[in-house]
Amino acid sequence: MLQCGVPGCALPRQAASATGALGGGTSGYCSAAHEQLARRKRLLAPATPDVEAVHIGPGEDWSVHLLRRSHPRHAAVRALFAARWGKPAAESGGCLPRVQAVLHITTPPAVFERFRRHAAALGGGAAPAGGSSADDGQPFGGGGVGTGAGAGAGAGAGAGAGAASTRRNVEELFHGTSQLPGCFFGVRPGARPCEAAGCAVCAICRRSLTLARAGAPAVARGNGGWLRFGRGLYFSSCSGKSNDYSAGSEKVLRGQHGRRWRWRVMLLCKVAVGRPFETDAAADLDEAQFTAAGLKALGFDSVLGAAGADLNYPETVVYAEEAVLPRELIVYTLPAHDDEEDEE
Ligand SMILES: [Zn+2]
Ligand SMILES: [Zn+2]
Repeated sequence: MLQCGVPGCALPRQAASATGALGGGTSGYCSAAHEQLARRKRLLAPATPDVEAVHIGPGEDWSVHLLRRSHPRHAAVRALFAARWGKPAAESGGCLPRVQAVLHITTPPAVFERFRRHAAALGGGAAPAGGSSADDGQPFGGGGVGTGAGAGAGAGAGAGAGAASTRRNVEELFHGTSQLPGCFFGVRPGARPCEAAGCAVCAICRRSLTLARAGAPAVARGNGGWLRFGRGLYFSSCSGKSNDYSAGSEKVLRGQHGRRWRWRVMLLCKVAVGRPFETDAAADLDEAQFTAAGLKALGFDSVLGAAGADLNYPETVVYAEEAVLPRELIVYTLPAHDDEEDEE
């Protein structure tokens, strides 16, 4: 029996009708009052017990699903984040970062659709009509996250015949981002995505990554204000590297026993890399070539900056917004700097 869709309410869901339809037809909530409360807070009733809360955007065409630790995707993302950190614990206060929350992002259907087409085109295969690879993240939630926001879920019920050609050039990569100091989405239970234009993480949940934001001060800060491979969208297979770009999301909060923690957010994205131009030195190409058109002319779709002369950690850069599908928001903590000193 699924619990009421309002987080924190342990009451069972009410049957949708007096007869209690087969297949568990419920209202999603314990009562009409909680149904109204959910609507006011822009929450949807989770489709499975492994999802704690579902936030929907004002346009109801995107949603963010707060996963419980029991959700298989939570475990998978946690494991990937840890395995790919790639930096010694000494660099982060003597302990590795701890994942505090994993939120699955279901983008507006148009964002998913343009990504699917782009990835299929790079893979050389035809885009499957109406289909989607389960691996691409949408639809999500085990069939219908509800009404309204379900437009993206549920719509792609095709067989995903092109999944193999789509997946071949698609990689799962991390992307560091920023969050406004006043926004606690993902950090505090119950906090919802904000609508402030300057809150990068909430803007990404709403409409994916944009080239217009690339190179903005908050984005470039992690790289000393310099975009090594031009004005593109930057990712890394190394979560520890993306952490350098997440400084603009940091909030220092007091936890149990008064200990202070640095809370940060990062995205895990699907990135269609196509044929990457591999280099360990930015000087290999001139600035005009670090564009979608410039690379295309050379027969490439993305840049893979390998660790070497210029880079300590690998970076992937794409120059087309449709090459990216944000998939999960990872909320994690590192020890606060002064606590590191306290322990010495
Ligand atoms: Zn309730
Ligand atoms: Zn925000």
